[in-house]
Amino acid sequence: MSTKRQNPETIAIHGGDYRSDPTTKAVAVPIYRTTSYQFDSTEHAANLFALKEFGNIYTRIMNPTNDALEKRVASLEGGLACLTVASGQTASSFAILNVAQAGDNIVSSTDLYGGTISLFTHTLSKLGIEVRYADPSDPKNFEKAVDDKTRAFYGETLPNPYLRVFPIKEVSDIGKKYNIPLIMDNTAAPVICKPLEHGAAIVVYSLTKYIGGHGTVVGGALVDGGNFDWTADPKRQPLFNEPDASYGGAVWGKVVPELTGANVSFAVRARVTLLRDLGSALSPDNAFGIIQGLETVALRMKQHCSNASKVVDYLKKNKEVARVIYPTEHEGKIADRAKKYLNDGNGGLVGIELKGGTEAGKRFIESLKMFYHVANIGDARSLAIHPATTTHSQLTEKELLASGVTPGYVRLCIGIEHIDDIIEDLEQALNKSSKGNLKAVS
Ligand code: PLP
Repeated sequence: MSTKRQNPETIAIHGGDYRSDPTTKAVAVPIYRTTSYQFDSTEHAANLFALKEFGNIYTRIMNPTNDALEKRVASLEGGLACLTVASGQTASSFAILNVAQAGDNIVSSTDLYGGTISLFTHTLSKLGIEVRYADPSDPKNFEKAVDDKTRAFYGETLPNPYLRVFPIKEVSDIGKKYNIPLIMDNTAAPVICKPLEHGAAIVVYSLTKYIGGHGTVVGGALVDGGNFDWTADPKRQPLFNEPDASYGGAVWGKVVPELTGANVSFAVRARVTLLRDLGSALSPDNAFGIIQGLETVALRMKQHCSNASKVVDYLKKNKEVARVIYPTEHEGKIADRAKKYLNDGNGGLVGIELKGGTEAGKRFIESLKMFYHVANIGDARSLAIHPATTTHSQLTEKELLASGVTPGYVRLCIGIEHIDDIIEDLEQALNKSSKGNLKAVS
């Protein structure tokens, strides 16, 4: 294959080094359902454990099906290495635990998936890692929160409900001044955004969403951009510069480039310490399922984006809709960020505020016939949810408003069905949303 960088449609199918199974010549990536791998000799076994040679030891830490997926995701992102894990939540947890320990802090965007907020606010704080929140509408807020214990910045490319695109370059430039890596959750924007090209060091994914794409498999990934110098400021990144007692005193920032010839210390450390100890491995069956989705992600993203933009045009004209929330519907510099960071479309997520508030939101959801009412995004099917009565129902009215969820807010995740059918379903549900009580519409 040519070494020229290929396009996402091609990388999604051919990316990485898997061409066919070395033994059977199978073209599709097989599911290697094995826990362990035969060593050639005692010396071979010892070398693998000592990281003198890289190879398969045990499926909790590596598996050839997962390896094919990892190399393809790394290639799609333009990164150097990737680690797949059991879920997107594991990917976010590992991203932080790989750089921070008790007493450290990270600075994170306020615009985050709710599960990430609870991980950061509740679980990480119990482990002694402080998460300082910064409003990304002004990137300088990240700088204001930095101190000498700050180990990373964290943001989400296309966070809902606000759907304000994150200022990736602006925040990563601040990070560069302090040797702080930017970790980006790119779950809602695969293919249409490449955070590494804008200065992010690490990309995390819930593979459960657009990359898996069919609502069938839960998985996560961490992509190491290979563009961050973990040894430039040893005090800033102690986990990469101090001997690791759990691995024979390895200094990860030095030993990994020496052994591999590549700047993949982040990915290797996460695999051989966090995955080894916490064990949240992606099963090879699930890796296989995700590969099936990955192969068409570029095509599906085009259709998601094109459908969503037509839905936005339609909703803006509908009299039941007070406001349409979409990356390009913001004003000023927030809308400019959509132009700067998103290519070939603005994503499949659309928010709407209904004039009739909570009751209209409930009626609208209950009246949808084709859309599924689920707490998920990134499925080939169109999905809808009313956060005020579901995902955010435990919040007070004040907290709801702070999180961007107004009583009438409905999140739509536009699928890849025919646009006429999507709009027809939305129209009939909007017509019912303003009328009568719930019983009358059922
Ligand atoms: N990140 C984002 C942006 C998400 O939307 C989600 C799940 O909805 C996650 C992470 C967590 O992913 P998973 O459900 O695969 O654990």
